[in-house]
Amino acid sequence: MAKTHFNDMHLPRPDVDEVTASYAGVSKAFDEAGTTAERAAAIRDWDRVRGRLWTYLSLTGLRFNQDTRDAERKAEREYADSIRPKLQNLDTEIMRKLLDSPHRAEMEAEIGAQAFALWDCEIGTFSKEIEDDLVEESRLEAEYVELLASAEIEFRGETYNLPGLGKFAEDSDRETRHAASTTSWNWTGSQGDKLDRIYDDLVKLRHKMARKLGYDNFIGMGYKRMGRIDYDQNDVENFRAQVRDTLVPLCGKIREKQREMLGVDKLMAWDEPIHDPRGNPKPKGDHDWMLERATEMFDNIGGGLDTFWREMNERGLLDLKTREGKAGGGFCTSFPEYKTPFIYANFNGTQGDVLVFTHEMGHAFQNHCSQELSPVDYLWPTSESCEIHSMSLEFLTWPEMDRFFGKEDGDRFRRQHLLGALLFLPYGVAVDHFQHLVYAKPEATPAERHEMWLEMVRTYMPWRDWGDLAYPAMGGRWQRQGHIYSGPFYYIDYTLAQVCALQYWIRAEKDFAEALESFVALCKRGGEAPFQQLTKGAGLRSPFEDGALDEVVAKAAETLAL
Ligand code: ZN
Repeated sequence: MAKTHFNDMHLPRPDVDEVTASYAGVSKAFDEAGTTAERAAAIRDWDRVRGRLWTYLSLTGLRFNQDTRDAERKAEREYADSIRPKLQNLDTEIMRKLLDSPHRAEMEAEIGAQAFALWDCEIGTFSKEIEDDLVEESRLEAEYVELLASAEIEFRGETYNLPGLGKFAEDSDRETRHAASTTSWNWTGSQGDKLDRIYDDLVKLRHKMARKLGYDNFIGMGYKRMGRIDYDQNDVENFRAQVRDTLVPLCGKIREKQREMLGVDKLMAWDEPIHDPRGNPKPKGDHDWMLERATEMFDNIGGGLDTFWREMNERGLLDLKTREGKAGGGFCTSFPEYKTPFIYANFNGTQGDVLVFTHEMGHAFQNHCSQELSPVDYLWPTSESCEIHSMSLEFLTWPEMDRFFGKEDGDRFRRQHLLGALLFLPYGVAVDHFQHLVYAKPEATPAERHEMWLEMVRTYMPWRDWGDLAYPAMGGRWQRQGHIYSGPFYYIDYTLAQVCALQYWIRAEKDFAEALESFVALCKRGGEAPFQQLTKGAGLRSPFEDGALDEVVAKAAETLAL
């Protein structure tokens, strides 16, 4: 069968009544089934409908991002958004039926216990009783995004939005960095009351939903939303303590060395994004040139990445160039109906292009490798496991980076990438720990929440000095981290995955073929198991184990000569 080109991927708009009827058919078939094989066939029928709906929703969202000015694409996306809660409701009804079925054990043996565990999480976070609250939650999340997107900030005679102003944060001139930071944080401070109010509303609303569903507070509900199956709050707390005790001291040394290299008396917050007075290395060519280098890179690596990459090109499954009307950001999405992922990015000529590209290719390759898994719940793992594939490929492509940067800048790129990966961990766990404090005390005032953040900074980033930047010095820095508003408890997932990716970095330096083989095998398992089963199967130490960071910290210190 010839594989469909992206331009030919079109699915008709699903009609909710028709979907309802086909779900009723699945439900009836399951009830009337007399054998395991018949019950499995009913689940497969449901799975096919879900795969098609999923594909429609992904295509619609993606096509809107590709041209946000197109009225037709916008209308289609709005339609898709409008039917999403109804589809979720239909799904949870079937999930409930399967979870409560007297044949559950036999079905678990057939399709795996992980699907049931995931469905259990899903129904544990949804009920008709909170439908209106969920709509209100989305509205508040959108209000936050719109507030930040509305920024029009004057700086040195030009007007910028926040990402536009953000590029000065990496300027090689210190005075420019300080001035841009001051401008950016003054704007944030001017919106402080609104930012506090939106978050206060979100925290209280989430607490109320959790109480309605029978949780003590939102923390348990947040973990279920993230599909966390084989670890809990205590494990996460133990991980954060390891970061604090073993990695924070190393990061302190990194900051001290950075201060020396920049030749400043005291490293200030606005110096932190710069590791090298020469500025950050840039890829030595444009979009088309980078795609050619990528082909050489994946041909050289092999392992299936070579043929997969060529197929993505041939089938038009990459959209990496920035252009007017195209929404920002980079992500990987997938279309189960056509058995393929798709990569979206906005190249802008910086080293970030290479990182976004290898990161999203990691996601895409895993999804590609998992296409034959069923049910569709296994096409992607839960997010802490997903990020292992993406962040690990960033490291597995290290030996190839000279193709993009040349030898000297390739070394600088690798060094900065490693520094970034290490320094990210204290920040990431601070964002996570902060949210635990917030949701454990939903009645706290905004001022108390700012104080909670300052406590996190003292614990995990003791080097941080905001100098004369009043708003972040008072504790407002967290308000620019969108996940805190829109993705509660998501953030720790990046740090858990980073620890696994750093282990692949060490393994690849020792024996590249072994690391690659293990990586490919992990990708093939998709989401068929929870996080610690996947890591164990790949020979990775779980970040929750005592001593999990020791080898990473030792190897990093040696590599960076610290
Ligand atoms: Zn990712």
